[in-house]
Formats: sequence, C-alpha cells, structure tokens
Amino acid sequence: MPESLSPKEVHQIKEELLSAVKALKGQVVNHESFSVGIKWEKTQPAGDKMKVVSGNKKEEQMKKFHLQMKDCKKCSLAKTRKNLVFGQGNPEAKIVFVGEAPGADEDEQGLPFVGRAGQLLTDIIVKGMKLSRQDVYICNILKCRPPGNRNPLPEEICECEPFLKKQLQIIAPRVICALGKFAAQTLLKTQTPITALRGRFHDYEGIKLMPTYHPAYLLRNPSAKKPVWDDVQKIIKEIGLD
Ligand code: SF4
Repeated sequence: MPESLSPKEVHQIKEELLSAVKALKGQVVNHESFSVGIKWEKTQPAGDKMKVVSGNKKEEQMKKFHLQMKDCKKCSLAKTRKNLVFGQGNPEAKIVFVGEAPGADEDEQGLPFVGRAGQLLTDIIVKGMKLSRQDVYICNILKCRPPGNRNPLPEEICECEPFLKKQLQIIAPRVICALGKFAAQTLLKTQTPITALRGRFHDYEGIKLMPTYHPAYLLRNPSAKKPVWDDVQKIIKEIGLD
C-alpha cells in the first residue's frame, strides 16, 4: 500500500504536470507553424531581368507539345536512345541555346547539356550572363543521341528539325545562340564554316541568331573561350542584360 501524499506534494505534482502540458502544447504549435499555412516560395535569382510575366500559356503549350512527341519513332535513333531529350528551361525565355544532339550523359538523364560541356554552358549562363539555367531555354537539333556521338545524318535532321522549329515558335525568343558548327549550319542552311559565321547576328525566321563555338570545343581548345565571350557579350547587349 503506497503512502498517501501530503497536500503540498500533490500540489507540486499538479504544477509539474501542468507545465509539462504547456511545453508540449508549445512544441505542437511551433511544429504546425513550420508545416501548415506557410507558403514556401523559391527566391528569384538576383539577375532576373529576363522573365516575361505573361501567364503560363507558353508553358502549357510546351508541355502539351512534349506529350505529343515524347514517344517519337520517326527515325532510327529511337531504337538506340535511352531517353529522348526534349529540352529544358523557361518557355518564355528571351534566349534559346541550340546544340547539336544529346551525348551519353544527356541520353542517360533525359536532359540537355548536363555533362562536362553542359557545365561549361552553365558557367556561361550563370557567371557570364548572370542568369540561371531556368531563365533560358536549352535544346538540341536532334532529340535523341546518335550512337557513339557520331554526326547527325541528314535524314535524322530532316525528321527531327520540325520539333525544334515548333519549340522556337512557342518560345519566340529574342535571340538564338547556335552552339557549334552543326547547329549553326543546320539552322542557317549553309555550309559556311563556324569560324566565318560566328561573331555576328544572322537572321533565322525573323529571330536574331548568334553562332558561336560549342562548349565541347572549348574543353578541347580553351583559347576559344575569348571569342565565345565576345559573342556572349553581343547577346547580353542585344537582350538588354548589360
Ligand atoms: S531524333 Fe528526333 S525524329 Fe529521331 S526518333 Fe528522336 S525525336 Fe524522333
């Protein structure tokens, strides 16, 4: 039989229980303030001068178009690809970077420019242009990887280029930056070497197009970074980021 507690001891236990309940209640309230009713929003990038606030119509169009073509089997690359690489970024971007075709890393992840050359392109966008990859749009002439990274074949370009055209129609950017000989020559329908094409704006269906060297070329030829930076500065000026 336990000994009966004195009134003083009972009062002390009551006080302790009450303060424990209050502390527990406080913790629940704190927890709720972190999990309920707080609208978490991503902070805007500091150099965000490019966003065009005009609803999400272009985004919807792009999503719809992606859904329409994501299982494309129009050329033989469909048999060897792991993932179709549609494109990535802001459908309302003022600048679109167009490369040649996905490589091994891109094929693996289904995203454009994610390998070493992609890191260099990211540096150009982030460090050079003071933008983020989400501010621009990045895609390729071909949406599927040519085996062994061989050059795209004319019939593959013929089948795939309409997808790029549609993307460019939706985005309607101010400037297209064609990365490398292949993208520049394909878009401009010319055989002129990239050394002669780069450094000045050309016209692509009413959109200004700046050809420059491909980031993969820069990895092999670091001295070409200077002319690329010159080209990028012209783009920066053209779209009013300076
Ligand atoms: S490369 Fe283009 S045309 Fe060929 S299967 Fe892929 S998406 Fe279709």
